[in-house]
Amino acid sequence: MSINQTSIEEIKTRIDIEEVVSDFVSLKRKGQNLWACCPFHDEKTPSFSVAPTKGIFKCFGCGKAGDAIEFVKEIEGLNYIEAMRYLGKKYGIQLEEVEDTPEELVQQSLRESLFIVLGFAKDYFHDLLLNQSEGQSIGLSYFRERGYNQQIIKDFELGYSLDRWDGFLVEALEMGYTKKTLAAAGLIIEKEEKTYDRFRGRVMFPI
Ligand SMILES: [Zn+2]
Repeated sequence: MSINQTSIEEIKTRIDIEEVVSDFVSLKRKGQNLWACCPFHDEKTPSFSVAPTKGIFKCFGCGKAGDAIEFVKEIEGLNYIEAMRYLGKKYGIQLEEVEDTPEELVQQSLRESLFIVLGFAKDYFHDLLLNQSEGQSIGLSYFRERGYNQQIIKDFELGYSLDRWDGFLVEALEMGYTKKTLAAAGLIIEKEEKTYDRFRGRVMFPI
């Protein structure tokens, strides 16, 4: 759910900070600016000022400052969208809220799936490097020869992929990941009805 950008622009052009702030504190004009006792901290002499021409407020006591939207957020404890809804209501502007499209929802869930499956792959390859005999004899000795110590290997979660066509694929399918997600993540290759691991018999550096 998000707010249509044109409604936001419409509200912004209509906002009058003097009107917005006056709903909460009574402002007194002094020179170009308006003054009041600050609604955000306790005080007896006014140090809260509003500059109507600039559309901003600032308290010289506690330092709170911002525009009318920020003022509404602070004083009502709202987030940005809630503050825009509040202001839309005040100025009688209908906020057009747009639902995310089905396509956007699919993209979002794909991104989440990829994130999860890449995490699984990283753990899988890291575990092989540390705990599996082929991983230890080939992968670990490769890293050691190049001066990677145990701490670096752990910190960077380096890994090793078995010298097999489907070592990762079998494990991932068993864990319930689909071929579609695995292929989208670039972890397997699908070619002419064959599916196989992209990474075979090599050391792995996670991104
Ligand atoms: Zn203040």
